[in-house]
Amino acid sequence: MNYFSLHQQSPVVDFRDATLQGQAPDKGLYFPQSIPVFEKDFIFHIESLSPAEIAFRVMRPYTGNTIPEEDLLRIVSETIGFPFPLVDITGSIASLELFHGPTLAFKDVGARFMSRCLGYFSRDTDKKTTVLVATSGDTGGAVANGFLGVDGVDVVILYPSGKVSPVQELQLTTCGQNITALEVDGSFDDCQAMVKDAFMDASLMTHRKLTSANSINVARWLPQQLYYLFAWRQWKDKDHPPVISVPSGNFGNLCAGLLAHCSGLPVKQFIAACNANDAVVDYLNTGRYAAKKAVATLSNAMDVGSPSNFVRILQLFQNDHHLVAQKIKGYSVSDAQTKETIAKVYRATGYTLDPHGAVAYHALQEYQENNPLEKGLILETAHPVKFPETVEAATGAQIPVPDSARELFGREKKSIRINPEFSALKEFLFS
Ligand SMILES: *Cc1c(COP(=O)(O)O)cnc(C)c1O
Repeated sequence: MNYFSLHQQSPVVDFRDATLQGQAPDKGLYFPQSIPVFEKDFIFHIESLSPAEIAFRVMRPYTGNTIPEEDLLRIVSETIGFPFPLVDITGSIASLELFHGPTLAFKDVGARFMSRCLGYFSRDTDKKTTVLVATSGDTGGAVANGFLGVDGVDVVILYPSGKVSPVQELQLTTCGQNITALEVDGSFDDCQAMVKDAFMDASLMTHRKLTSANSINVARWLPQQLYYLFAWRQWKDKDHPPVISVPSGNFGNLCAGLLAHCSGLPVKQFIAACNANDAVVDYLNTGRYAAKKAVATLSNAMDVGSPSNFVRILQLFQNDHHLVAQKIKGYSVSDAQTKETIAKVYRATGYTLDPHGAVAYHALQEYQENNPLEKGLILETAHPVKFPETVEAATGAQIPVPDSARELFGREKKSIRINPEFSALKEFLFS
C-alpha cells in the first residue's frame, strides 16, 4: 500500500515512510491510495476469528511489505493485549469499553501500534527519532506509556497547563527516561499549532529526526479501525447492524470507523458526538466548514476547534457533503447534558459513564428519539476514574480506582513550563 499527501504536492510513500514522517513534506496528511475490501467471509464469520487474527488481517494491506508477517503478527498481538468488551447498558444501547489498556483510554491501541512499528523501523539506524506530540489529555499518557523505554526514540509531549485531569497529568509527566513533558501556558490548539510549526521548520528538521504521534500519523490512525471490528464481532443481531456513536475531537477515531465501513464493515449509521466544540456538526448540518476556537468542556479530550482528521473524512467521501451528511449525523452536547446523562444512566442502570462516553450516549439517545427501532453502541473511550470530580459529583458514588491508577498517585510530576509560542518549543528542541 502506498500513501499520498492530501495536499497532492509530495511523492507517494510506503507505510514505513508515512510512519516515520508523520506528515507529508507539503504539510498534507497521508491517505491510503486505495481502500482494501474485506472478504465477505471475514465479515460474516468474524466470531470464529481471534482478535489477533482480525487485527492482522485488517492491518496487513496497510503495512504491505514494510513489515514481515511474523513481525506484524507480534506487533498487533502486543497492541491489543487487553479486552474490548461490548457491555449492554440498556436494551438498545451497549458500550464498547475501550479503556482496559494501560492508560485507561482508547488511545492506547494507536500509541502501542505506532511505537512498535517505529521501534521496528528504527532497529538498525543510529540517529534517534524524536516523537513530538500535542495532547488534549489522553494522547500524552498513551504515547508516553507506549514509547517508554523504546530504544532509539525520544518523546516530547506538549499539553495545555491546567486543562488536563490529575490522572491524565500524572500519566504523562511521571514516566521519565526517554519521555519529556512540556507544560504549555495555552490551549490544546496552541500545542497543536506549535507541533505543526515544528514540522515546517527546516533548520529543526535537519537538527533532529522528528515525527508526530498525533492521530495524523497513519500508524496511530489506522489501527483504530479495529475497535469497530471488535464491536461487530460481539454484535449479536448481524441482520441489523449497529448505530455507532463516537465521542469526537480530532476525528481520528470516527474517521477510522468510516474507513472500516468503506472496506465493507456493516454499520447502520455513524454519529459524531461532540461537546461544545462543534465545527464538524455545523458542517454536517449546513455544508459549510469553519474551524473554531477551542472552548474548555468537561470532556476535555474532545476540546478541539480545528480537527485535523476532518480532511480525511472529506477525502473518504470525495468532498460530497450530501454523502458525508448521510453517513454521519452530528450532535453537539452541552456540559449540563453531559452531567445529567452520567447521573441518569447511573441511577437507571448502575453503569458509570465517563464524560466522553456520556456525550456519545446523549447523542445516540437523541438519534434514537427519531429512530426508535434502531439499536446502537457507544464507544466508551475513557475510564471514569480519569475524570473523578465530574463523575462522582453526578453519580454521588465513589469510583473504584483500578490498580494502574492507584499506583500513579505516589509519583512525582516532572514538567517543563513553556509559553504557547513556537519559538519556545524550538529553543527547547535545540537545547
Ligand atoms: C482523544 C479522545 C477522544 C477524541 O478522539 P478523536 O479521535 O480525537 O476524535 C474522545 N474521548 C477520549 C477519552 C479521548 O481521549
